[in-house]
Amino acid sequence: MRFAENGTIIDLESKVIYNNICCYCGACGAFCPEYITYENQIPVTKKKCFEIHGACFDFCPRSFLPLFEMEKEIFGAIRSDVELGYYTRILSVKASGDTVIKTGQDGGVATALLAYLMDKGKIDAACVCKKSDDEVWKPEPCVAATTEEILSSSGSKYEQTPMIVAVADAINNYETIAMVGLPCHIQAMRKIQLSKAFDVCAGKVKYVIGLFCTETFDRDLLLAKLAEIGVDIDKVNKFDISAEKFKIYTDDGVITENIKAMKSCVREGCNVCYDFAAELADISIGSAGSEDGWNTVIVRSKVGEKLINDAKKAGAIKVKSMDEKSIKLVRTLASGKKKENMKKIMQIADPVKILNLVVEPQHLQMLL
Ligand SMILES: Cc1cc2nc3c(=O)[nH]c(=O)nc-3n(C[C@H](O)[C@H](O)[C@H](O)COP(=O)(O)OP(=O)(O)OC[C@H]3O[C@@H](n4cnc5c(N)ncnc54)[C@H](O)[C@@H]3O)c2cc1C
Repeated sequence: MRFAENGTIIDLESKVIYNNICCYCGACGAFCPEYITYENQIPVTKKKCFEIHGACFDFCPRSFLPLFEMEKEIFGAIRSDVELGYYTRILSVKASGDTVIKTGQDGGVATALLAYLMDKGKIDAACVCKKSDDEVWKPEPCVAATTEEILSSSGSKYEQTPMIVAVADAINNYETIAMVGLPCHIQAMRKIQLSKAFDVCAGKVKYVIGLFCTETFDRDLLLAKLAEIGVDIDKVNKFDISAEKFKIYTDDGVITENIKAMKSCVREGCNVCYDFAAELADISIGSAGSEDGWNTVIVRSKVGEKLINDAKKAGAIKVKSMDEKSIKLVRTLASGKKKENMKKIMQIADPVKILNLVVEPQHLQMLL
């Protein structure tokens, strides 16, 4: 689709980067590394580009996001659920294999689906997020070309990382690709796939798997917070956010912080995000709404529907239905994020753009 808005690298700098709303997804620099690099988790212009219509602006999820048009293109229909986006089914799902269950964050479904696709030869690369070899718990985008690499990158890392850089790497070297990412990564992925102005062969990305996300943490602030509450990050085995709690699993036991106490660590760019449920993914995966050891899975596209059905048939996952009360809980969390971030969005966006966020009228009136 041809997006209605154009922008240069200077527009990207002024509207997104210097406005502190960059989400550090990697979309602006991934395909133009000679012009844009990343330093201290923000894009930095290495060389000015003189394109009046820049791919960096076109691909950025924070420059503009024509949500309804994008939904129509991806799903063939537009949402009727404001909080969760377009979907066909919402399910509770769990990986079947013991290895995945042991290493996975919740039900291990993200990893199980990627491993299933790789084992069946349906993909030759998966863009995942591994832990850095150099800095403890630092997430890094990674192209996994084997099931072992997929398994070793399971588990949630609560900092942001430019996943689209791995997508560009995979597109350059592989033919059929799956990617996993946070809502901002998924928005970027879809803008890249739908762009008619710039063809970077993004059609090679056949499966777009989203994760629920309330926020990511700034690394320096998170490290300072851990030091303040007496946690040695070298001893952390797992971080987890569920039921309003931030849990830190260490060699010495589990430390639990109220999620509100962690708000001071949130990345500034996350405060303008209006998507909890990775609304543009083929399927979205989270923990909220399902019992421990299971995932909540929102099935959205035909690709997502086929993936869940085929993986279930092959015995890679177990699936059960979700009741309306549990789904309501997911909707409440999504609504809570939208409401909380709306104030910040109102301060910086022009009013007409805000309508593109699919705002519930009562939320908007509350803030006017
Ligand atoms: C920053 C963050 C915030 C989240 N917030 C919520 C929330 O508020 N509510 C909720 O229900 N769920 C949230 N989730 C999702 C949840 O933590 C699990 O990722 C999800 O339930 C899938 O579980 P799983 O067992 O299938 O994961 P696994 O099978 O362990 O697979 C997880 C996949 O996510 C990838 N991954 C890990 N960290 C990142 C990252 N930073 N960026 C991109 N990809 C990554 C891994 O490479 C792996 O492929 C969040 C996840 C993250 C990373």
